Amino acid sequence: MGDTEKKVKLIDSDGRRNDGRMPHELRPVKIEAGVLHRADGSAYVEWGGNKVLAAVYGPREAHPRHLQKPTRALVQCRYNMAPFSVSDRKRPGPDRRSNEISKVISEAFSSVIFLEQFPRTSVDVYMEVLQAEAGTRCAAITAASVAIADAGVPMRDLVVGCASGKVGGVVCLDLNKDEDNFGEADVPMAVVPRTGEIVLLQMDGHLKPEEFDQAMAYSLKAAEQINELQKDALRRRYSVSLDEFRAVQPPAPEPEEEPKYDVYHEDQPGVVE
Ligand code: ADP
Repeated sequence: MGDTEKKVKLIDSDGRRNDGRMPHELRPVKIEAGVLHRADGSAYVEWGGNKVLAAVYGPREAHPRHLQKPTRALVQCRYNMAPFSVSDRKRPGPDRRSNEISKVISEAFSSVIFLEQFPRTSVDVYMEVLQAEAGTRCAAITAASVAIADAGVPMRDLVVGCASGKVGGVVCLDLNKDEDNFGEADVPMAVVPRTGEIVLLQMDGHLKPEEFDQAMAYSLKAAEQINELQKDALRRRYSVSLDEFRAVQPPAPEPEEEPKYDVYHEDQPGVVE
């Protein structure tokens, strides 16, 4: 542990973290679907101080064409951090870190999208980090997943990103910026909630096996919570209020005049009104 790490107190005497959370607590998460009208699907996620926008196009003809797969679709992801997303200006354009994140996110989505239904095409997923405060790849996966669903691309389930790590000797869920900088480990992962399948797992730092198990347990539990928020965002996007429904419906036709029937009187056979 370096000198700076010793000076930063990440866990106080009653077990709270520097932002007031207990180790098992998530930062506030907000998700909105369908925020961009040019894209086929889109989503916006705020996760603590992270703000991420995701846009999806496709399945559409894959370009460059030599990348096309004759039997399945490609998933081409681009994770990008805006120059103004961090306190020091980030040099614009791709770098080793964003290329790596784009690659692992593409692999995660390739295992859930029904690629074989769309040969020669590409599903293009753009993730723009507008504001970064640790955990951006998890926020980006979470947003991209909602955007892919919003685009109507068939997949086995939504994917949820979440990270846990170790801070001041304590395993904690969803590290913030200070915890990410000065903590001992960070384990971002992505899970398919329906099957429990892990489609992305990375690790920065060291954990003992039992700490790793605790970190995974925290992330998997939080993934259930985040998955509910994703589904809720999609429901809000596609639900219409009764007033909106009436506004787009053509006016109901006037009811036809009641047909007149002859009334037969049982007690007065032969009398028909
Ligand atoms: P993640 O954002 O998925 O946790 P990292 O662990 O690589 O990914 O990064 C942690 C945090 O460090 C980011 O969320 C961001 O706040 C900050 N960061 C990453 N890259 C840069 C950069 N080039 N300049 C300044 N801050 C950065």
